[in-house]
Amino acid sequence: MKSKLLVSACLLGICCRYDGKHNLLSQQTLEKLKDHYELIPACPEQLGGLSTPRLPAEIQENGQVMREDGKDMNSEFLRGANEAYKIAKFSECKTALLKSNSPSCGNKKVYNGSFEGVLVAGKGVTAKLFEKKGIKVYNEEQIIKLIKE
Ligand code: SF4
Repeated sequence: MKSKLLVSACLLGICCRYDGKHNLLSQQTLEKLKDHYELIPACPEQLGGLSTPRLPAEIQENGQVMREDGKDMNSEFLRGANEAYKIAKFSECKTALLKSNSPSCGNKKVYNGSFEGVLVAGKGVTAKLFEKKGIKVYNEEQIIKLIKE
């Protein structure tokens, strides 16, 4: 039986990004992933109750998530992370493939809170929770590594 892999829904072509678009992986990459895993899609921000499209949010220097218009978004992002974790747990996913650079899904870098497109080292709210709970997180640039492990 194949292991389950929780995947950021936007990487599977679901239009759940803040701008209503997706980040669909190539067909070749999807086939490779499906050879090794059963894919379980989830979008933490939608699970947190946010609408699509929505205003972008970024993690500030103090760790708080703020929307572009200044609204505090911590509770929605935390709720989304917890709901995504419930799906991972229920589906017995020990590994996740999450979209890079997102304030929810990013596992290495996030935007710095200035809304000027500046990336800094850091983790999104969901990636952080998953790692804390023992789920290994990869991003779409680490798929070769993911498949090898
Ligand atoms: Fe994709 Fe994650 Fe953003 Fe949802 S929260 S759109 S899954 S990067």
